[in-house]
Amino acid sequence: MNKIITIDGPAASGKGTLARELAEALGYAYMDTGALYRAVGYEVLQAGGDPEDEADALKGCRILAAKLGKDGIPVLSNPDLRMERNGDAASKVAIIQSVRDALLDIQRNFADNPGDKYKGAVLDGRDIGTVICPDAPLKLYITASDEIRAQRRMKELHSKGISVTKSAVLEDMRARDARDKARKVAPMRPAEDAIVIDTSVLDAGQVLETALKYVSETLA
Ligand code: C5P
Repeated sequence: MNKIITIDGPAASGKGTLARELAEALGYAYMDTGALYRAVGYEVLQAGGDPEDEADALKGCRILAAKLGKDGIPVLSNPDLRMERNGDAASKVAIIQSVRDALLDIQRNFADNPGDKYKGAVLDGRDIGTVICPDAPLKLYITASDEIRAQRRMKELHSKGISVTKSAVLEDMRARDARDKARKVAPMRPAEDAIVIDTSVLDAGQVLETALKYVSETLA
């Protein structure tokens, strides 16, 4: 069986940090699938389009596919993708089934062929355990209280010199979570066989330690 770890959960739950650290510790390749949706949202906004319009969003997918074909995964490391407006645009294009279909093969190919120098793959997102890699041997769902997540996101933004209030962050985050949970296609939810880890009272080291325990039980 392929060594694939899926990590899903809401914004600022700590899933990205865990996914990166887990991949590093295990020698696995890592894909931040949220960056794919952010990149599509970003391309739509750059072209002056509407992220809720299917034709505009599919054009964004084609531009992204061309960039990925030319420059590969590093395209997803563009720091502009982290901006709130691109996160918001991402959650709008993410509602469109044809956009999700266009991004499906990119994610599955990565999971199945992470490259010779890697022992497996870690993917984080919203539907990795439920839709993208339903047969993965280890599925984690990372969550934390709204307050804690808003605090973490605010700290991250402040460290980048972006000034925001906690209530504004909380409001944006709740709107995005609500959209991700309520959508008909691939809504954010834990897979039935996922292990749920609440990181509200854990630091990053404790979350990694907890996850590594599950790795040794399921993938060793
Ligand atoms: O993880 P991140 O916050 O960067 O994701 C941005 C948005 O992309 C999410 O709010 C969600 O709408 C969408 N997304 C998704 N499926 C994934 C990853 C992200 O729908 N697998």
